[in-house]
Amino acid sequence: MSTIHSVDLYPLFVLLKRPYGDANGWKMHRAALIIRIHTASGISGWGEAVDWLPSLMRLFEHRIVPEIMHQDARHIQKWVQKIARWNRRAASAVSMALSEIATKQAGCSMCDWWGGKLHTRVPVYASFQSYVQKERWDRLAVDQVLAAYEAGFRQCKVKVGGRTLQEDQRHIQLLLNELPANARIAIDANESYDAAAAQAWLPLLAQSNRWLWFEEPISLKHAEAYRDLKRQLTIPIAGGENLTVSKDYLPLLQERALDIVQPDPMHLGGIEAYRHMLALARTHGLRVSPHTFDGALSRHYAVLAQACLPAWSKMQGDELEPVEWDAMENPLGELLSIKPREGHVVVPDEPGIGAEVDEELLQALKWDGSGY
Ligand code: MG
Repeated sequence: MSTIHSVDLYPLFVLLKRPYGDANGWKMHRAALIIRIHTASGISGWGEAVDWLPSLMRLFEHRIVPEIMHQDARHIQKWVQKIARWNRRAASAVSMALSEIATKQAGCSMCDWWGGKLHTRVPVYASFQSYVQKERWDRLAVDQVLAAYEAGFRQCKVKVGGRTLQEDQRHIQLLLNELPANARIAIDANESYDAAAAQAWLPLLAQSNRWLWFEEPISLKHAEAYRDLKRQLTIPIAGGENLTVSKDYLPLLQERALDIVQPDPMHLGGIEAYRHMLALARTHGLRVSPHTFDGALSRHYAVLAQACLPAWSKMQGDELEPVEWDAMENPLGELLSIKPREGHVVVPDEPGIGAEVDEELLQALKWDGSGY
């Protein structure tokens, strides 16, 4: 009885107490659509999509739910590929939910479904939006990283590219001065520089060996420019969070323009496409550090997939790349029972995704349908 019997839709919306931002602008709210697909035999699976809620809701209510209702939940590829032609993020949500149903029917964990985990713990890094609407935003930005260090994180990512070079470098210098020496730092410019502005970071980057990577300094459209910049940098260069099909990574892979690729489990049109991207990176001898800033469920899938990824290095303690962990105010990030300890998440063994969705919180965060 693998027939799809019903689909619950939970559009979630939170207005932030204090907006925060990166080089792309301010985040005033956080929103997500959580779905739960039930089979006739009483098995259910959760999925998540992040996009503009009014259009996502219409798409699910009027097209996706009627399409999959009373169909076979085991035909994951068929439904996910069809829905990906309409909306890749919606397809990712359906992919997650149907995959969880399949694993529960098989009585195994998601990692076992994928062939078994290779790592019992997955490192995560605390990810920040550094800008707030205050004059000394840099002081506040450093304080929030120090608080994450106190909470056990030893890897973090902060933003640059949204202020003048002078202001941004003052922030990063302050961070270097105050963050204990055993913590490592990534800086993310969200594609905001040209090559000359990116090169202006070279002297400051040369001052320290604590860098994780320089993320998306320039537009990802220019693979050759990335390759040239990479030759000048002494630290890894990372990118790719917004690419929605794996073939868009190919010019970057062929030019060897990146050291670390950053696919997002919600952007590539399904968990299998996402895992294909991880394998493609390893095929090219590259590291993968997933982008997962949007939601708790997709982040959890990134952790599970990372646990099944062969190590990139034989150096003990550095063998697995970290998964992004949103460290900003975001109640949507609390939806799952999984929490990091000392900068790591323990990979669960229970059937399905091995994590419980907080249904009380799900009800409390439900979007009222008003404009935003
Ligand atoms: Mg980024």
